[in-house]
Amino acid sequence: MDGFTLSLASAFISLVMALSLMILWYTSPRQWCLLDWAGAGLLFFCSNLISIMTICQLFPEWLAPVLVNLTYICGHAAILVGLRRHLQLTAHWDYVLVLALLIIFLHTTPFVQASVGHRVAVFYPLLMLINSLVLWQLWRLPKPRLHPAYWPILLAEGLFLLQLSVRFVWMLLTPGPLAEMVAAEWLLTSGTLAVLLFLLLVTIGCVLIVMRSQELTLRMASLIDPLTLCHNRRALAEVAPRELARAQRTERPLAMLMLDIDHFKAVNDQFGHQVGDQVLQQISHIAAQELRGYDQLFRLGGEEFLAVLSDVDEQSVMVVAERVRSAVQDFEFQHNSQQFQVSISVGIANLCKDDLDWQAMLQRADRALYLAKAQGRNQVCVAENIALTEVVIT
Ligand code: GH3
Ligand code: MG
Ligand code: MG
Repeated sequence: MDGFTLSLASAFISLVMALSLMILWYTSPRQWCLLDWAGAGLLFFCSNLISIMTICQLFPEWLAPVLVNLTYICGHAAILVGLRRHLQLTAHWDYVLVLALLIIFLHTTPFVQASVGHRVAVFYPLLMLINSLVLWQLWRLPKPRLHPAYWPILLAEGLFLLQLSVRFVWMLLTPGPLAEMVAAEWLLTSGTLAVLLFLLLVTIGCVLIVMRSQELTLRMASLIDPLTLCHNRRALAEVAPRELARAQRTERPLAMLMLDIDHFKAVNDQFGHQVGDQVLQQISHIAAQELRGYDQLFRLGGEEFLAVLSDVDEQSVMVVAERVRSAVQDFEFQHNSQQFQVSISVGIANLCKDDLDWQAMLQRADRALYLAKAQGRNQVCVAENIALTEVVIT
């Protein structure tokens, strides 16, 4: 294939990359990385457009190398910027600007101006460095985070780096003037085809990454209670079987604390639903503070919460429950100039060998809570102490 056709194909695919990522950004405006990647597509497009215009003698030949190299290399850097933004790392377009200035400066040196071969010798390693940084950024992700959605971009960068390295080494090892080698048809064709494949894979990769990230956001939202920001019952159904299996496998203790606000209906009736909401938020905050960082707090619904504590012996569980109960009791709520206090009752279930599933533990915690309510509220009860037939709610 001739250089013109190859550049035309590359220009077309880069434009498709830029436009499709921009349209995707328009539909998901919070995904700013899409704009970085669309920027990369635009830079690749400009690079190819300048090549085409130069071939058609519509662009000054002396200016073409600096602009083609600048836009092309900065396009690769823009992919790195977008990836870092997606991974919530600092993303620096100012580094891309510095890179652009460096490329312009290098083009003013007699060595780079001398021949195409010299330009290859200087800019190939720079490109290889940028592509290696993208690969490294992906590779250092914790393995569970390296979801298949990242594979196309990983493959694109890996193949691109490989072909750059092979061509670079081949050119270094082959005797003869570099300029002639660079102009060899097979080298031009294979290089441009590699770029086409790269652009296609990167476009697919960027779209997949964003779709995956949106899916994760939705999933997170479906597991979080919007009022208290605690995990919800659906999250409990995912976490509890895992915790139970681990506790049974390692023969370590596991406990569930069911917390229920006492006479919460009266709070709503007296101060209004909005104040009731604030009480729920505050109590979840107090409970989270009194628990250890790795204990998990769930809002089961209404004014009921569940804490799952792993690796804590029965006595310590009791201490934690008491701590939460008394912290809630001591807290002074305020509404207008009025102060009021709220209490909670807590039911504890410690894992025992008769518990076949987590629901059995939950049921026992619920029964313990029932007893705490029956015995006057604002107290902690442990499931093992329950004689169910004696329970009479007052
Ligand atoms: P007990 O001590 O027996 O637990 O009495 P209680 O009043 O706390 O329990 P009850 O089940 O009678 O009432 C629970 C109340 O919680 C009724 C409901 O309006 C209120 N509630 C449930 N969800 C919310 C919520 O998201 N916000 C507010 N403000 N109130 C809620
Ligand atoms: Mg209640
Ligand atoms: Mg309740």
